[in-house]
Amino acid sequence: MKRPGTAAAVVLLSGGLDSAVALAEARAQGYVAHALSFDYGQRHARELHAPLIRLTKGEIVARGHALGVDFSLTWSCYEPALDGRACGACDSCVLRKKGFAEAGLPDPVPVAE
Ligand SMILES: [Zn+2]
Repeated sequence: MKRPGTAAAVVLLSGGLDSAVALAEARAQGYVAHALSFDYGQRHARELHAPLIRLTKGEIVARGHALGVDFSLTWSCYEPALDGRACGACDSCVLRKKGFAEAGLPDPVPVAE
């Protein structure tokens, strides 16, 4: 068994969100990530940016607040209620709730109870 931080992961970056999330997940799990990218004619060949990847959720919310983001127009929930409210329980909702709490700001998105 390898020690944390010594196992390698190779991630193919397409320039889209899915591969960026795969890279972030590999790093979060302690892998030493090696990113590969090549141009195969994809639409997003030059759009890969991850300016928030090293920020906590609270820092992201605080940064958005400072920039005037209308968080009522944002969405995180993986499993919304039938009426459109966030579930409040999925991983994304839990992280969002933690981020707003860390930033000391209310989340304007309605949550089903
Ligand atoms: Zn949810």
